[in-house]
Amino acid sequence: MFTDYFDIKRPKWDGETLAALQKRLEESGYQGLTGEFHALIRRYVNADVDRSPAAILTRADEYADVLIPPAHPHARIIVHRQNPEVLRIVVAGRSQHEARMVQTALKLHLETVLGRLSEGGGDDHGRSTLNRFRREVVPALRLQGNGERGPDGRFSLGPQLLRAMRRQPVVRGRPTVLVSHLATLAPDKPSEQVRDVLEHLVTQGALERWHVVICREGGQWLGSSPNAEEMRAFSALKMDCPHCGRRVSEEQSEVAYRLGEQAETRVNDNRWMCDIIEAALRKMGVEAVAVHPGAGPVDGAACYQDAVILFRATDEPVEMGDVKRLQEQGRQLEGEGWRVFPLIVSDRPIGADTKAAGVTVVESMAALDGVLDQILRTAREASLNALLPTHLRLAAIALIDLLPSD
Ligand SMILES: [Zn+2]
Repeated sequence: MFTDYFDIKRPKWDGETLAALQKRLEESGYQGLTGEFHALIRRYVNADVDRSPAAILTRADEYADVLIPPAHPHARIIVHRQNPEVLRIVVAGRSQHEARMVQTALKLHLETVLGRLSEGGGDDHGRSTLNRFRREVVPALRLQGNGERGPDGRFSLGPQLLRAMRRQPVVRGRPTVLVSHLATLAPDKPSEQVRDVLEHLVTQGALERWHVVICREGGQWLGSSPNAEEMRAFSALKMDCPHCGRRVSEEQSEVAYRLGEQAETRVNDNRWMCDIIEAALRKMGVEAVAVHPGAGPVDGAACYQDAVILFRATDEPVEMGDVKRLQEQGRQLEGEGWRVFPLIVSDRPIGADTKAAGVTVVESMAALDGVLDQILRTAREASLNALLPTHLRLAAIALIDLLPSD
C-alpha cells in the first residue's frame, strides 16, 4: 500500500462544513462510510433527534471517514479531523501513482466547497523532506550529487556484468565469455539486454569484442581477431582443423567478449554493488539516492517518505568497526528526526559476531531486492502510523443518539 496525504487548516472545522464536503463528494460518486452508515442508522435513531448530517457531525466529538473514490475502486481516502483546526486527508492506493491521481481529483472537489486550498499539503511535506535530505544529509555523509539519478543509470547492469566477467574462464590471458554462454553472466536478465550492455561496455573500452572460430569437438580457438571481415576470410580458407580434421568453414563461428585492460581497476572497488543497490531502489520508486563508495562513514544513502536508508556495500569481509560506524551514523540522524534503516550489503555470508541489533544485513546480492522491498514496506507502514491515530472512531455516531428519550 502506498499513501499520500495533505492537511487542510481552517479556523474551525464545524459540522456544517464537514456535511457540505460529504454531500459534495457523494454527489460526485464517492462512497463514504459515514454517509452510508447514517442512511442505515435512521432506522435506529429516535424520531425527535435532528438526523441531518450537519447536526450529527456537529454533535460528534470525533470525526473520521473512509471513502471510495469513483474512478479508483481499490483506493481509499481517510479523512480525519485531527483537532478543531486541522483536517488530515490520507489517500491509500496500490501504487504511488494511484494515490497521487486520487489526491489530485479529490482536491478539485474539495476546492468547489472550500475555495482554493492553500499550498502546504502533503506534496509539499514530501518535497521538503527530499530537500532536507539533499541539503543536509547528503553533504554531511560526504556523498555525491543531490540524490537525483546519475547519467549512467540506464547501464547499471554494467558493473554487475564486469564483475561476472572477471570470474569467466581465462582464454589467451583474459577472462572471456562466448555469446552462446551469455546466460552465465546474468541468468536473471534477458540475453538481448545483456548483449546491449556488453556492447556499451565495448564502446567505453571496458571490454573487447572478438570474432573467433572454435573447434566443435575440443573447443580450441582456431582463429581470432577483433575484425569480423578477417575472420570471415579465415573461415573461407581451404584448411582443416588440426584437432578434429573438419574444414574450418564447418567449425563454429562465435563472438567473444573479453575483459579489457582498463576494466580491472573498475571492478576492484565496491562501486558495482552501490550501482546495483541504487538501481534496485530507483526501480522500487525511491526518488533520492546518493552514493560515494569509500568516501565517508557510509557508501550511500536514500530518502524514502520520512525515512533514510543508510548503506555500506562491501565484497570484503565485514568488520565490527563498519557495523559500529553505521549504527553511530544512524543514531545521529535519528537525533535529527529521521527514521533510519541501516543496511550492510555484502556478497558473502557475514559472521555472527558482526551481526548487530538494528542493522539489516544482506548476505548475497541475489537477496537484495527482497530485503529492500521489505524495508520500503516497513517505512510506508511507519509513516502511515505517524499520519493517523491507531484507533479511529468511524461514522461519528454517539450512543445517546440511538437511545430513547425520556
Ligand atoms: Zn575441430
